[in-house]
Amino acid sequence: MFIETRGNDGLKPQRAPFSFAILNPSASFGGLYVPENLPKIDTAFLEKASKKSYKEITLDILKLFNIDIEEEIMQQAVSLYDTFDDPSEPTPLVQIENDLFVNELYHGPTRAFKDMALQPFGYILSHLAQKLDEQYLILAATSGDTGPATLDTFANKPNIKVVCLYPDGGTSDVQRLQMTTQKSPNLKIIGIHGNFDDAQNALKTLLASPSFKEALSAKQIKLSAANSVNFGRIIFQIIYHIYAYVALLKQGKVELGKPFYTIIPSGNFGNALGAYYAKKMGLPIEKILIASNINNILTDLITTGVYDLRHRSLLQTTSPAMDILISSNVERVLFDKFGAERTKELMEALKENKLYTLTQEELTRLQDDFEAVYCDDAFGKEQIKHYANKGYIMDPHTATCLKAYQTLKAKPLPCVLCSTAEWTKFAPTMFNAIKEDHIKYSDKEALEGISNFLHVKIPECINSLFNEAVIHDKVVEKENIEAEIFDFLSKAH
Ligand SMILES: *Cc1c(COP(=O)(O)O)cnc(C)c1O
Repeated sequence: MFIETRGNDGLKPQRAPFSFAILNPSASFGGLYVPENLPKIDTAFLEKASKKSYKEITLDILKLFNIDIEEEIMQQAVSLYDTFDDPSEPTPLVQIENDLFVNELYHGPTRAFKDMALQPFGYILSHLAQKLDEQYLILAATSGDTGPATLDTFANKPNIKVVCLYPDGGTSDVQRLQMTTQKSPNLKIIGIHGNFDDAQNALKTLLASPSFKEALSAKQIKLSAANSVNFGRIIFQIIYHIYAYVALLKQGKVELGKPFYTIIPSGNFGNALGAYYAKKMGLPIEKILIASNINNILTDLITTGVYDLRHRSLLQTTSPAMDILISSNVERVLFDKFGAERTKELMEALKENKLYTLTQEELTRLQDDFEAVYCDDAFGKEQIKHYANKGYIMDPHTATCLKAYQTLKAKPLPCVLCSTAEWTKFAPTMFNAIKEDHIKYSDKEALEGISNFLHVKIPECINSLFNEAVIHDKVVEKENIEAEIFDFLSKAH
């Protein structure tokens, strides 16, 4: 069963099953749903897992969670990993140094790690909506990776419609085309004049608008969310951390039960939370190392215990999926360590004063599990070039992790670095790094340039984007979004 990070308001259920928590992800007082108990895995589980496939391990772990989804549905959901590059190994673990391994989480349909969770999650959500005979509208605002992955998973899914807002000019060409060429009639993609914050604020305004909700309920449409705080996504983000250890075992790189480090390029902290839960369940993680770009609010929190938004504004970097100042899933760690009352107090302080400060004792407990460091774009580009010269291509988000590898890894243990996107989604930055220039390349130029220069193939799903018809070409002012949505809803069936 699931409980709430800020306590219960007496209107929502005290304890809710998984299906409720994922269909209605906003909990009392603006909090989040968390599992009441985490299942345990021990060395015997890991030993057995080392003889199993990714899908088998996923189903084993889902069963341990004992959630209210039929086994057949879970099997169907997990079988979506068969569409990844190598169905037997959806998350390959690749060694790039003696003690450094890359957990490649981007081999799904949209080439970013968001697919790991959104693919099975989308299947389960649509199944629940059908079972309840309810229609859901999912609203999403994206800076680039969440949009394509959300649209891909819900394309042609019954009982679900998706409206996705993106900042016109604020995504890469590849990311934009992954959205605007979507053919499925249950999807609507709207570009807006403005940046990602404008898109997100427009979405928040809509979600809070009583007239918008009334108009939807008149049409018997319910609102839900597929953003990274939905526990239906988090549950699938626990599994690949466990699998990384299993892969180390399979490759003979770690002794059963001995610890390892994991490094996570973080934004909204969903990926890191998955590692934290895996550690609590019994996975022998020595420390979870959090990598950030110059939007280094997580580094500050984990090194000083202070979350301070007062003098910060969001800075644009070459790792845009990590350009975040309000990192939503941190709340679940606070709850797990300090309880609902304290979490509510801290989150309210953040809202009112743009600041909270942990006690020394609380900070020490946070540091039991986490360490953090950040780097700037220049450092990331150096790493991209260094490893490209050695024959390994990593994207700008993944490259931020090298700082943590170089400065935080204190013990001689194997280290797993989570790679969150394929280089093809950020080709202009990659080409700048490799050529050490500052030329403004188009995505297509940079993709072809890198492909020729490093003798790598561009995957067909990326190449073909440039030849597909753009279906969603509307770019509107914020004020016109609501009208666009209702126009879509009146036409879509
Ligand atoms: C979403 C994303 C991240 C950040 O992940 P969180 O779970 O939000 O911390 C990092 N890298 C890439 C490429 C992403 O798409």
